[in-house]
Amino acid sequence: MTDTPVHPPIIVGAGPAGVRTAETLVAAGLRPLVIDEAARWGGQIYRQPPEGFHRPKRALYGFEAGKADALHRAMAGILPAVDYRPRSLVWNIESGALDVTPNDGLKGGRSETVPFSHLILAPGATDRVLPFPGWTTPGVFTLGGSQVALKFQGCAVGSRVLFLGTGPLLYLVAYQYAKAGATVAGVLDTSGFADHARAVPGMLRDPGTFAKGVYYVGWLRAHGVPVHSGVRPVRVEGDGRVEALVWRRNGAEQRTVCDAVAFGLGLRPETQLADLAGCRFRFDAMDRAWVPERSAAGRTSVAGVYVAGDGAGIAGADAAEMAGERAALALLEDLGRPVDSARATLLEQKLAASARFRRALTDAFPFPADWAASVPDDTPVCRCEEVSAGTLRKAARDGEAAEINRLKALTRVGMGRCQGRMCGAASAELLAQALGTGPDAVGRLRSQPPVKPLPFSAGILDEEKAS
Ligand SMILES: Cc1cc2nc3c(=O)[nH]c(=O)nc-3n(C[C@H](O)[C@H](O)[C@H](O)COP(=O)(O)OP(=O)(O)OC[C@H]3O[C@@H](n4cnc5c(N)ncnc54)[C@H](O)[C@@H]3O)c2cc1C
Repeated sequence: MTDTPVHPPIIVGAGPAGVRTAETLVAAGLRPLVIDEAARWGGQIYRQPPEGFHRPKRALYGFEAGKADALHRAMAGILPAVDYRPRSLVWNIESGALDVTPNDGLKGGRSETVPFSHLILAPGATDRVLPFPGWTTPGVFTLGGSQVALKFQGCAVGSRVLFLGTGPLLYLVAYQYAKAGATVAGVLDTSGFADHARAVPGMLRDPGTFAKGVYYVGWLRAHGVPVHSGVRPVRVEGDGRVEALVWRRNGAEQRTVCDAVAFGLGLRPETQLADLAGCRFRFDAMDRAWVPERSAAGRTSVAGVYVAGDGAGIAGADAAEMAGERAALALLEDLGRPVDSARATLLEQKLAASARFRRALTDAFPFPADWAASVPDDTPVCRCEEVSAGTLRKAARDGEAAEINRLKALTRVGMGRCQGRMCGAASAELLAQALGTGPDAVGRLRSQPPVKPLPFSAGILDEEKAS
């Protein structure tokens, strides 16, 4: 075993997990390469506005301003000791190398192949969505997308925004919009009051986070924002733009006038790169998703490949920081370098505790498993390839597709620009519902490069890498 890696360790993602990974490797004397498609470090939760935008951290990150500042400073402090490549998209992993292309708007640039011997994947998560009538109408955004608009550029997605879905982000983003001065038309939670109440003892494991959640809901109510639980969407009204959302609660339909809907049903780990790296996967019932198998230290089934943060399973920003540090220690251990084993054990214990809190959150905001059954046949599921719920159900009913990759081959669902990042989970839910089984039983959508759309300037068309 050598204590010098063949290539500099590569970290994909400069969010909480990636930054703490880099910091730990730098402290051990290594010079990692940190690649992130975003313009500045911080990841999703601590996303920074563009250079030149000045909004106080307290306004941007609320109660988390201190943590955001600490993470931003940590990365700024190690910049001279890392090779940092912002605005760079990792779009493929193949034969021990990453394919990376500049993610620089219209300027573009050619794709480059970067070999690795040690790779830490910390690409975070994305919104989980299910279709409903009208969900592709202009003015319907994901919750995360609506928050990106606010955090990155100080813009609201509408002048009267209705928030729909479930999970802690639902209340947080509604609160952030209201605090920023936007009109919040309401918060419609698909989970019920009984779910929230049942989960209270478990959520008290982390009283600080629980108190913040209670505060957001209380603040919204106190400021006259209607908050309803046990809701299901019926349809978006409006052609060129959202005009209202019709929704149902306890069997009665109601209508809320709005010009934007921000919706999301929790988060889904971004796992395509781990898949392309050849990692073994397992189904995680809490995430309702296939995630890379990993040890408590973040090692995957592939030697030299580690995962950390939400991309390995949703656990939140604090856990992402700890997982990043732990994965870096694992990498150092694997190089035969001395590490502080007491620190490694402490991190693993804290990560286990945070997983227990995560379970309580899942109980408080359960996935609406009945939703898939209520999606009308003519609702588009895959907007890239224009595949409807009815087309998917027919393939399942005809006995032709009992597995998600077969469904893709037959219907083209998930074959478009998003490569299933948006519609893959929804298709699995619809297929499972049509077959009378669970999403774990319909298999895992295999990842294909490019994991995200590429500019023509990447110059890969002649290389037959993109399929
Ligand atoms: C849109 C969104 C908003 C969120 N807002 C909040 C919030 O306000 N509060 C909260 O508590 N939690 C929030 N979360 C959850 C929170 O982001 C995570 O718990 C936390 O940020 C996880 O940290 P991470 O380092 O694992 O991932 P992230 O913070 O997501 O960082 C991952 C980084 O990887 C980069 N990346 C991803 N794929 C590639 C690729 N292929 N090539 C190059 N770079 C790549 C991304 O640009 C990103 O900077 C949000 C999640 C999302 C998806």
